[in-house]
Amino acid sequence: MKIKGLDELSTLVSLCKRRGFIFQSSEIYGGLNSCWDYGPLGAQLKLQVKLAWWKAMTSQKNIVGLDAAIFMHPKVWEASGHVEGFTDPLVDCKACKTRFRADQSIVDGNVVCPSCQSDDLTEERAFNLMFQTQMGPVKDEGSAVYLRPETAQGIFVNFENVQTSMRKKLPFGIAQIGKSFRNEITPGNFIFRTREFEQMEMQFFVTPGEDEAWFDIWKEKRWAFYKTLGFNEENIKWHEHGEKELAHYAKQAYDVTYKFPFGWEELEGVHNRSDFDLSQHQKMSGKKLEYFDPQTQKKFLPYVIETAVGCDRLTLAILCQAYREETRTTEKGEDTRVVMGFLPKLAPYQVAILPLSKKEPLLTECDKIFENLTQASSHGTQDLRVDFDITGSIGKRYRRQDEIGTPLCVTYDFDSIEDKKVTVRHRDTMVQERISIENLKTYITDSFSQDAQWGL
Ligand code: ATP
Repeated sequence: MKIKGLDELSTLVSLCKRRGFIFQSSEIYGGLNSCWDYGPLGAQLKLQVKLAWWKAMTSQKNIVGLDAAIFMHPKVWEASGHVEGFTDPLVDCKACKTRFRADQSIVDGNVVCPSCQSDDLTEERAFNLMFQTQMGPVKDEGSAVYLRPETAQGIFVNFENVQTSMRKKLPFGIAQIGKSFRNEITPGNFIFRTREFEQMEMQFFVTPGEDEAWFDIWKEKRWAFYKTLGFNEENIKWHEHGEKELAHYAKQAYDVTYKFPFGWEELEGVHNRSDFDLSQHQKMSGKKLEYFDPQTQKKFLPYVIETAVGCDRLTLAILCQAYREETRTTEKGEDTRVVMGFLPKLAPYQVAILPLSKKEPLLTECDKIFENLTQASSHGTQDLRVDFDITGSIGKRYRRQDEIGTPLCVTYDFDSIEDKKVTVRHRDTMVQERISIENLKTYITDSFSQDAQWGL
């Protein structure tokens, strides 16, 4: 058998559309550049990604969650440096009129047009990436607000609220998932870089002087998180920011990068933000944001270690990593199947119930199994995400489930009426087993508890 991973992003884009993961936004109107809608399977997959992240963060004793508003006081963005400095160098090509980012189009030390390679370009202009709109019915200077370009500031401005209401002592962290907006000059590569996206950020507040040790601890924790998502270590690596790459707020920064079909690119940033943000907000708001340490009886501004990952980008990496084509030589020639090898905890559907025929009592019996598997019971067995597919030959239905990454298929046939057993077919090995209906749920949850063996 030959196994091939994902070579071209376009292969994944068409699978995502065909199978209901991701559609182009407003497609019937010709689409809207760089905007994407998550279909039924994509929405579930993305939700599982968020849950995995949220649980990994908030299941730690010293991390709590937050859900801040997208609109914030405009002064927040002055304090954070976004009004002044959140810009990309924008250039127009005089020859072919392409507009692009100068910093991304440097060849042999010179900026050249990525479309026609001309060096006849306009001067660089600083282009602010924040979307601006106005609040309320009157459009005047005072009504201007921004769509937040990152979720982090919602955490910084709530530092005191969270610390006092939750009676937290340093070190502790605040985790948040939410939409961010950036008017990117060159969005692209499917959901990799879009203008509207979701971020999963955690700010960990520590005593100055302990920040470097915590930075290393967070690097390790984040690496371990990627392992739990089934990432193959050949496809992820750290990239350390050199001095020129460091953001204005950062003391130290490392990116987790993933080997996408279009190259190694950033997935997540781990940053030591020092006390930059709290001190800026303290200055701008006039409100004291210092932490009082009961042991040393001293007041100070905590330092912050931040971990920031794009949910859409991580979902894309999971889709890329999961994709494989398996080709077998059979009597009839070569046969290829496409498999999305999601871990059961991430798969949109974990089980598919496939009645062999639409005849009764097969449908009614399958309905009962469906009810049983989707409902959580009081004896500790969990509810499962279950598809119910009655359309097409059983072979075609198996192939569809392989392509949407369902780990197990359950087939109820005419023998099932007598022996009260169903056939369970495993996505990865294609092995089929007869399992009694009575034990089915336990059998399934047991096999999922060995998540690791279901490597992506
Ligand atoms: P990049 O260099 O790719 O523009 P960044 O360094 O500006 O990203 P951060 O501001 O550190 O990114 O944001 C944290 C994370 O948010 C990134 O690692 C990425 O996963 C995600 N992210 C940032 N911008 C976008 C975008 N336009 N579309 C999708 N995800 C994004």
